Amino acid sequence: VFGASALGQLSEVYGELAQAAGAAERLGEILAAEPAIRAPAAPRPLPEPPAGEVTFDAVRFAYPTRPDHASLNGISFTAAPGERIALVGPSGAGKTTVLQLLLRFYDPQSGSVRIDGVDIAKADPEAVRERLSLVPQEPTVFSGSVFENIRYGRPEASEDEVRHAAALANAAGFIAALPDGYDTLVGERGVTLSGGQRQRIAIARAILKDAPILLLDEATSALDAESERAVQSALDTLMQGRTTLVIAHRLATIRAADRILVLDEGRIVEEGTHESLLAEGALYAQLAALQFTDALDETARGKEPRLRAA
Ligand code: ADP
Ligand code: MG
Repeated sequence: VFGASALGQLSEVYGELAQAAGAAERLGEILAAEPAIRAPAAPRPLPEPPAGEVTFDAVRFAYPTRPDHASLNGISFTAAPGERIALVGPSGAGKTTVLQLLLRFYDPQSGSVRIDGVDIAKADPEAVRERLSLVPQEPTVFSGSVFENIRYGRPEASEDEVRHAAALANAAGFIAALPDGYDTLVGERGVTLSGGQRQRIAIARAILKDAPILLLDEATSALDAESERAVQSALDTLMQGRTTLVIAHRLATIRAADRILVLDEGRIVEEGTHESLLAEGALYAQLAALQFTDALDETARGKEPRLRAA
């Protein structure tokens, strides 16, 4: 009934869906059931070796469900290899959307997103995602052993590599204290890990994956102080030598960034360092005045300051 070309199209579509589903599962969390974007017929290769430069060039984007509302409205910036950029701004400003476009879950309506100079809309989505590691706000673990959960970052990794990544992610200690160590089952029918432990699993995955570009969506909810320190130092290790885009909530992260981009209504409205932006006395200073009042109180109480509702 079906001609060869129809079958070919079917399997092509199926392949794309399977690919999108696989990527979604691996990167998890942000995305769920979003429409798959099409892989180009003749994808452009990304340069080797990777440098880790990220460019947004006049990016305008509206979600398919709201075509009349531009979630990003002319975003331009370049993250140099190894640079740390914090994305800050009120809820709905477009921070998560920036990460979604970089992961190529959508293509912009106009403008381009480039990695190492290549428009990612012209590249193979899998090749793009190989260059990126995502550490989401609330990393998920799947049903399986701790070992399997970490090795997910690079399925062909050796046992030694998995253990080394866990050590660098400050996860080795709590793993050793689990009933069966690395063989302990976690997830639905296993041991429940704390938020800070799940974050360190996600960091260990990213260390194993060893991608040049890191996307962090910092947790808004506070961890206990010990977890907070362990996670922070694991993140410092992970960020070393990688380009980082972080949706930042903690004052410490914002201060440690090379550059802060302040987003509002899909535009970059300010750019600078914590000090220069405070001195500017505009949106960032307002956000800081509102949100760090609390944060400064928390500093006084010995807690880690963070932006609320960002
Ligand atoms: P932020 O992360 O800064 O809070 P987002 O990037 O999540 O902001 O959202 C930017 C804008 O896009 C908001 O107006 C939001 O309502 C809209 N938006 C976000 N996700 C979707 C989606 N899946 N479908 C339609 N609109 C969305
Ligand atoms: Mg968001």
